[in-house]
Amino acid sequence: MKKGDIFVIAAVCILAAALAGVFFALKKDGKTVLVKVDNEVVCEYPLDTDREIVLEHNTAVIRNGEAYMREADCKNQICVKSGKISKRGECIVCLPNRVILEIK
Ligand SMILES: [Zn+2]
Repeated sequence: MKKGDIFVIAAVCILAAALAGVFFALKKDGKTVLVKVDNEVVCEYPLDTDREIVLEHNTAVIRNGEAYMREADCKNQICVKSGKISKRGECIVCLPNRVILEIK
């Protein structure tokens, strides 16, 4: 076996592992909700436990495996109108308060 062959085999293995990872990521429903303020994660909660998350300017709720923004003091209320999220990668953004809810 040549050195080049080993490199190709290693590359194929890495690619296969990466593809498997992407497949799993796409298939799974979200498990947790990340709360970010100013682009930093301030807390993380499981989606399967009902909870109220009270922040300085926003109140988020986790209920029945879904997360949504119940109240916010921002003017546009876009985050409140965003509705419920439950799938991995979905998020609710409150731009004026720089709050993000993200499903992971
Ligand atoms: Zn808002």
